[in-house]
Amino acid sequence: MKECAPREGELTALIVEDDQIVCDLWQKIVESHGYSTVSCTTAASAKEAFAASVPHLVLMDWLLPDMDGLELVKTFRVSELGKYLTILMISGKDSPEDIATAIAAGVNFFIAKPVEKQIMDIWLNAAFMHVQDCLQRKKADLALSKIREELADNNLQLEEAIGRANAMAMEAEQAYIEINQIFKTVAGGIILVDKHYNILRCNDSFLKMAGVDRKASQDHKCYEIFPSCLCNTKECTLQRISNGEQRIESEIEKEGIDGTVAYYSIISTPFKGPAGDLIGIVEHITDITERVKAEKALAASESRYKELSLIDELTKLFNKRYFNTHLKLEVERAIRHDQPLSLLLLDIDNFKHHNDTYGHADGDLVLARLGQVIAEAVRVSDIPCRYGGEEFTIILPATSGEQATVVAERIRAGFAGVVFQPNPQETVQKTVSIGVTQYREDESGLKLLERADQNMYEAKQSGKNRFVLR
Ligand code: GH3
Ligand code: MG
Ligand code: MG
Repeated sequence: MKECAPREGELTALIVEDDQIVCDLWQKIVESHGYSTVSCTTAASAKEAFAASVPHLVLMDWLLPDMDGLELVKTFRVSELGKYLTILMISGKDSPEDIATAIAAGVNFFIAKPVEKQIMDIWLNAAFMHVQDCLQRKKADLALSKIREELADNNLQLEEAIGRANAMAMEAEQAYIEINQIFKTVAGGIILVDKHYNILRCNDSFLKMAGVDRKASQDHKCYEIFPSCLCNTKECTLQRISNGEQRIESEIEKEGIDGTVAYYSIISTPFKGPAGDLIGIVEHITDITERVKAEKALAASESRYKELSLIDELTKLFNKRYFNTHLKLEVERAIRHDQPLSLLLLDIDNFKHHNDTYGHADGDLVLARLGQVIAEAVRVSDIPCRYGGEEFTIILPATSGEQATVVAERIRAGFAGVVFQPNPQETVQKTVSIGVTQYREDESGLKLLERADQNMYEAKQSGKNRFVLR
């Protein structure tokens, strides 16, 4: 096999002829036409040469020692670049049928052997034109396949884009279905209001709350459909959200659709477009009328309960109401059983000063502590009460004035001994002044109380921290 490596842009030819002398001759002629050549004397070496570098022109014999020439033509033609090949066959098998068979197998030009150089030149010139045509065709095919590739690539991208768009559309549809579902099933009312107070969307619960139909909600502003005490004030939630607030929770009181007072809790948040721009607000409205009414009823019953209660919360002694009823009862009982009855009236000394100096809360601690001292000092049958403020009364049934002074002194001394510490640096001791008196025949409970008060006043006048019996 004779080889001649092709240079770039140069035309190449493969010569296949088993007779070495003829082969060399053909090679010379072909080279004289401007081709660089590779020559082979067998089909096997020709196949190898073809695989190494596909030539522009093949000049070949039909009858080869190792293979039928037409079979070799077919193997060339089925290769990727085989269609751009120009094949010139020179053979002694030259009947019209043979030539037709060769052409059908893929041969382009056929010359009968023996061939003269002149004839060969003519056909090589014709073959040269064919080679040029093939080069053009190859170039055009390449350009076309590149366009096809680009087109296929574009198609792929387009298909992907369509796929993504479809997926987004499906997601959007799903979200729409979900939103609708939420709108329908949520317990409260939901409204979407734009910056101009138009209701863009609302659910059936809202329409029911507002007592309007859907058409009315579309034709009117939000403050016409669902007016509240926030409308037309600087508390308007749309205004506040427009001014940058992100979440507002409000509770409003307004007339319900049946004309009675209704209470609503409203959560307002910004309603934004896809670009994050503020379109308006979303409001979730819950009817809390039942809850508020229950709370109000509870508060009312609590205060009623306190009123009815007999015990003073701070000192745990009986309260003034209890004192008033029981003073009367005990007076009646004392008369009925002809038994003595005494009354103590206590007042903390300089209590205002304590409050002013250490605070009201600390004053409360003093009151509570005095309550304890009193409770510990009396008998079960006695009735210790907080009369009001820093004044206390104790009804002592079956007790003479003299005996009552024992209780009075026990309380006075007991309380005076308590050490208070209103702050880490200071300790304080407080005292009480006590009026003691015994029930006198035919007088009223009120009279008894007045005398106890006078005695207490006298105790104050005579220096405090003492009791006076009269
Ligand atoms: P006096 O020795 O003459 O009784 O003087 P006082 O300061 O104790 O008497 P005054 O009547 O001027 O003041 C009574 C004070 O008791 C005023 C009031 O603030 C206080 N006070 C009444 N009720 C309460 C209470 O429930 N808690 C507290 N911390 N202070 C009370
Ligand atoms: Mg007082
Ligand atoms: Mg006092």
